[in-house]
Amino acid sequence: MKTIGLIGGMSWESSAEYYRIINQAIQRRRGGTSSAQIVLISVDFARIETLQASGDWDRAAADMIAAGHQAQAAGADFLLLCTNTMHRVADTVSEALSIPLLHIADVTAAAITDAGLGDVGLLGTRYTMEQDFYRGRLQEHGVSVKIPDEPDRSLVHDIIYDELVKGVIRPESRATYLSVVDDLVERGCQGLIGGCTEIELLISGDDLSIPFFPTAELHALAAVDLALLD
Ligand code: GLU
Repeated sequence: MKTIGLIGGMSWESSAEYYRIINQAIQRRRGGTSSAQIVLISVDFARIETLQASGDWDRAAADMIAAGHQAQAAGADFLLLCTNTMHRVADTVSEALSIPLLHIADVTAAAITDAGLGDVGLLGTRYTMEQDFYRGRLQEHGVSVKIPDEPDRSLVHDIIYDELVKGVIRPESRATYLSVVDDLVERGCQGLIGGCTEIELLISGDDLSIPFFPTAELHALAAVDLALLD
């Protein structure tokens, strides 16, 4: 079994889910008392959030590279950035490391195309919804993405930073998200990407009339597949 490197803390609420999902899947697949070999490097999200908000992606990339080197030195065979947003710097991080990076958008695109879908809605942080690093990567896999219009985009973004990364789950915010999703469905979306690793703490596939693609779970399960590959 390979050792999974996780760069987490963005936020720790979803990193805890990665840890749980990965260990449960390894236990299910290997049986007995099996659990995952994991190196987790967890950063201070307050610093990362400030760098994101000020647009200092170079410094944010340097932090991710430093964390990646730590994971690599501790024996990780491959690496996951446990956040969609920080994939803004995934190419820079990947180039600086000698172990492979499992890209969250590649995993998500594979799940969408496996489901036979090509036109989906995307909820995430403003960076993930608006910038090209994520949608462009999905597009390369033949997945076309719609995002909410304003003011819905701001609502979705603010709920992530004001509530979800702090572990605050409010029924009112769930209702807000579901009404944003209704609009995306009306615009022709056949599926929904939970394109922020905390969104699946707020909504689940049961809340939706279209297939849901929860990125933390998909990413964590893809890591398990890779770890168990001979
Ligand atoms: N975990 C979130 C994501 O998947 C947001 C936190 C962050 O900005 O990294 O994008």
